[in-house]
Amino acid sequence: MFDRLSALTDQFQSNYALIAVGVCMLSSLTAVRLLARGVVARGEARPIWLILSGISIGFGAWSTHFMTMLAYDPGVATGHGPVGMVMALILAVLMMTAAIYTTANVTGWIRVFAGGIIFVLGVAAMHYTSMNDFRINGTIFYNKPYMIAGLVVATAFAVGSFAVFGDAKSTLKQALSGIFLGLSITTFHVLNMASMHVVSKPGAAGGALVISDAAIAVSIGAMTLVVIATGLGAALVDAQSSEKAVERLRRLANGTFEGIVITTHGRIVDANNSFLNLVRASREELLGKPVENSILERGYSQTGNDDALLSPYDRSEAFPVEVRSRSLSEDKSETVYAIRDLREQRRAEEEIRHLAQHDATTQLLNRNAFMNRLDMMLERASTEQEPAALLFIDLDLFKNVNDVHGHRAGDHVIMEVASRLRTVMKGTTIIGRVGGDEFVVAIYGGAQPKDAAQCAHNIIEELQREIIFEEQQIEISASVGVSLFPDDTDSASDLVAFADMALYRAKKSGRNTACFFSHEMDESVRDRRRLARDLKKGIDNNELLLSYQPLASMTDGRVVGFEALVRWQHPVRGLMQPDDFILVAEENGLIIALGNWVLERACSEAAQWERPFRVAINISALHLQDNSLVARVHETLVNTGLSPSRLEIEITESALFLDQARALSNLRRLKALGVRIAMDDFGTGYSSLSTLNAFPFDRIKIDRSFVEDVGRTEQSRMIVRAIVGLGHSLGVPITAEGVETEEQMEFLRSEGCDQAQGFLIGRPEAIGLHSEHFSPATSTPSAVAKAS
Ligand code: C2E
Ligand code: CA
Ligand code: CA
Repeated sequence: MFDRLSALTDQFQSNYALIAVGVCMLSSLTAVRLLARGVVARGEARPIWLILSGISIGFGAWSTHFMTMLAYDPGVATGHGPVGMVMALILAVLMMTAAIYTTANVTGWIRVFAGGIIFVLGVAAMHYTSMNDFRINGTIFYNKPYMIAGLVVATAFAVGSFAVFGDAKSTLKQALSGIFLGLSITTFHVLNMASMHVVSKPGAAGGALVISDAAIAVSIGAMTLVVIATGLGAALVDAQSSEKAVERLRRLANGTFEGIVITTHGRIVDANNSFLNLVRASREELLGKPVENSILERGYSQTGNDDALLSPYDRSEAFPVEVRSRSLSEDKSETVYAIRDLREQRRAEEEIRHLAQHDATTQLLNRNAFMNRLDMMLERASTEQEPAALLFIDLDLFKNVNDVHGHRAGDHVIMEVASRLRTVMKGTTIIGRVGGDEFVVAIYGGAQPKDAAQCAHNIIEELQREIIFEEQQIEISASVGVSLFPDDTDSASDLVAFADMALYRAKKSGRNTACFFSHEMDESVRDRRRLARDLKKGIDNNELLLSYQPLASMTDGRVVGFEALVRWQHPVRGLMQPDDFILVAEENGLIIALGNWVLERACSEAAQWERPFRVAINISALHLQDNSLVARVHETLVNTGLSPSRLEIEITESALFLDQARALSNLRRLKALGVRIAMDDFGTGYSSLSTLNAFPFDRIKIDRSFVEDVGRTEQSRMIVRAIVGLGHSLGVPITAEGVETEEQMEFLRSEGCDQAQGFLIGRPEAIGLHSEHFSPATSTPSAVAKAS
């Protein structure tokens, strides 16, 4: 065998042989490169790449064959017939394209064998077709074992080539595969050449048309090079542009905020920087790792958009992400995931929800949120058969805090109250702020009403402690109304309304206390509502009337003026006293219409009195806030012709607590009209001295509760003494209210009180237009009383 091969080397022209091997390798490498491209290509591009690959290897094998034949010198004249040459080329291209197609499209182990065998059959077909048209002066004898060896070895290389080719991903595999394919062609030809033995015949080479060696060499070489160059060129250009495209894509992927990760068979093959940042890992760490059920916690559908939890690689806390996934290949082996971090969005949503449900100053629940929670609590309470209680808390005189210490102090107080409520109320409670200084607390379970009473007590205690703000000591206190579930009601809104009613009662009974709801309150609230409707009509229908109560001088007992006190002739309820409807009027803002009515009536009646007594009217704190009050007073004085100096306006201390600036401005403007201003009910209010300093009052009226007690308690006598002293030091005359007895009168006179008002001097009575019956000439209190 070796002698044949060595004989063959003698017979070869080494230039052609080298070219043959070179062309063969070049075309094989090109074909494999094109095949690799075709394997990954989709659509129309795929067959083009595969056919290009087939053409490339077909031409390569074909020219290798002829180059080998040229290199082969049997020592006699030889030549090739054109038909054989062309047929050989066609067969080579067709069969090798078929081999390439098979490798590219068949799956499983059969792929490499089928591809390899078809390939070698193609080489053989090409070879023998050409040999069939080979002209030589002699006879060719073939050695069968060599031929079979050629087929076997070539097939082994071809199969090896396609096996190495594998998934065609790495360049090394492609190169190896190309070399194997080249070896398959080369070994086939070497062994087939070796199998030939020529016995020469004398004479010229046979056949009519023989193509010369040089012509063959040039044309084959040129054609093959063109083909290879074309294929190679296409592959190179494609590689470059696809590399650029990949680079572009990667930049694009890295430029997006979304994390992008690609998996094959569920394992990560690539990821962009955003994804690496999200997962807190390097690309290398992630390669080959599964995505689903490890990095991404399920709960989203395979196809659509959904939310998932992303657990970072470094085991830091998982966070919500939005995941969109899509299969890249038909068999769903490749999947791309786009992952968006939802933390910011969730935070924003959470913040909005929080803002929507909480009060900004205290972070307590606002009214809506509280009601929702209360609903849920009551639902649970009714299924679990547990009681619940609602505490309605209102700060006493909170306006005062704002006015005296400023709004910042007010805010501070509210925040402090909220924090104290939180401290006092632990456990299953919900706390809300439902108004400026109104808080609600719902208690779940417990032993009711005992626990609710205890809670209310604790809250009142806790809120009684003074609050320090910027070195100011702020005194506060709170009143609490309590309602119970299910004893009072089973509706959340009623529970709150009832607690509010109880609170109203607590306020009325002197503040800084708690009160439980009772159904009789409900009735009284309904009653107040009815009363308010009636009063509105009553004012329009002129159902109001005025009583006048005289004020007398202490020194000589002469009447110096009258206080106008309103009465209401209710069509059903009869004559009503102000205590029964003034509060209702204040709650509904009707007090302004009422006050204006009193102002006009008192002025016009007083203007018709025979003697110019002063007339005092009561103006509510709310009315004093009214911007049109001063103009109204002015207009009334002009219309009625009453001298401003005869009108006295009585206000209480609380009038200065609502909006002190506005109250004071109105008071100054009233005073500028020439109207006198009296401080009513003095001593019952809050920081008495500061109110007296705030405005130069023309008169101070000591509240009748002190006068009532002067005969009984030393404390009341001291208070009266102090107020009188205060008035004297300020130069303001003092009037004592509610004087009923001579002893009281005597005491007040001895203390230096200036005026007295009370049943002892005269009861309030309607004089009004009937003032002609009243004789102002009589100057003793009893005469005044009799006169009406
Ligand atoms: P006030 O301004 O302190 O009026 C004096 C009240 O004390 C009157 O009650 C009067 O009848 C009562 N009184 C007078 N002398 C005595 C006495 O010797 N002993 C006792 N026990 N009571 C005496 P009235 O008329 O029921 O008014 C109650 C309150 O209603 C008034 O207290 C005043 O605050 C308010 N009010 C009355 N009329 C008006 C009004 O026209 N407008 C406003 N805003 N409030 C009014
Ligand atoms: Ca009064
Ligand atoms: Ca009074």
